[in-house]
Amino acid sequence: MKVKIICVGEELLSGDIVNTNSQYISQKLMDIGIKPLNHTTVGDCMDDIVSVTKQGFKNFDVLIFTGGLGPTTDDLTKEAVCKALNLELEKRDEIVLKMEKRFEKIGIKMSANNLKQAYMPKGCKEIPNKNGTAPGILINYKNKIVALLPGPPREMNPMLENYLIPELRDKSNFIIKSQTLKTMGIGESTLESKIRHIILKYKELIIATYAKEGQVDIKITCICQNDKQGEILIHNAVKEIKNIAGKYIYSYNGESLEEVVYRLLLERQLKVGFCESCTGGLISSRLIKIPGVSSVFDRGYITYSNKSKIEELNVSQNTLKKFGAVSKETALEMVKGLIEESNVDIGISVTGIAGPDGGTDEKPVGLVYIGLAAKEFKNVFKYVFSGSREVIQNRAANMAFMNLIKYLD
Ligand code: ATP
Ligand code: MG
Repeated sequence: MKVKIICVGEELLSGDIVNTNSQYISQKLMDIGIKPLNHTTVGDCMDDIVSVTKQGFKNFDVLIFTGGLGPTTDDLTKEAVCKALNLELEKRDEIVLKMEKRFEKIGIKMSANNLKQAYMPKGCKEIPNKNGTAPGILINYKNKIVALLPGPPREMNPMLENYLIPELRDKSNFIIKSQTLKTMGIGESTLESKIRHIILKYKELIIATYAKEGQVDIKITCICQNDKQGEILIHNAVKEIKNIAGKYIYSYNGESLEEVVYRLLLERQLKVGFCESCTGGLISSRLIKIPGVSSVFDRGYITYSNKSKIEELNVSQNTLKKFGAVSKETALEMVKGLIEESNVDIGISVTGIAGPDGGTDEKPVGLVYIGLAAKEFKNVFKYVFSGSREVIQNRAANMAFMNLIKYLD
């Protein structure tokens, strides 16, 4: 089934709002085994909507429109679609009645332009809109489906899920299976070249890599006719990817770094604590987003100044003077101090230069030391991250979690 999504709205083209509808519709279609083949955005312009509709109707089986169903003069989608497909508009009394009731309930007099919304293409079905006045429209015409949904997501989403998706699910012979592997410590292009032969070998699978702040996800998707078939194919591909890139994979089911850390700490019944300088509490903050974390997280210090490193973590003045706050030695004393002060099972310290200023040749922006200590283990890892201040902080936090995972796994 060839599906095209068409979003109508001047504000989408100008960048005033983000086109979340196309993403949402795609995701819901993928859930039922339909991969849309095209997204198009078009402004509130009659000629443009007519031409996109004509072309789309020629080349696709299903057109899904959002936006431009409202009562104002710039809302043209319905009129344009009718013009393109030579359909007539007719007034539906039951829709007028429904709108009148709705306005009565909220105590506002219905304005005349609202009546525009009661005109529907001849022979179409109404897709009820529980959260607004603009009815959705489902046109079955020449063995094709054209659906018109309103723009506001809170109106569009339930109409899509409750009405259009079930309608299309019945017509789709496929289901989608997917699995996401999460990696860290390898660049996207290197990873892609290492697994390219697997991507090419499994023609029935879509194996795609997505990179973000030092992490690369591998998403494996299968559009298949039955569950088992998809599962076996994905399983085999995952096995081959694991053989090649296993040491970079920290999750086989899409868990985030902090979710894996939480799970491992819970399984091993250990408590963690952090002392953070350049990440300023980011690591703690990310971990505590997970509900139930109190059973594995004890405390986090933000020791940004030298004074606080001395007072809270017993870092020696001498070490700070001799090696500097951003040094292997300070990171080690920080994490030792944390373990001694708090008695946590595992501690992490982070000290670095997040920039954009403050770097030197010897200690450039992006230099970060991460200390990890447990009862019998102490080590400090050195990194030089690139990117903005925020990216460096995020990468440092990611790496802190990754070191925990490596230690715990
Ligand atoms: P209304 O009756 O509110 O006018 P409509 O169906 O005519 O509804 P639009 O006028 O095109 O829809 O858009 C109304 C609002 O809906 C936009 O201002 C925006 O906030 C939201 N919206 C529209 N299209 C999208 C989209 N593709 N993604 C996210 N939000 C959208
Ligand atoms: Mg509108």
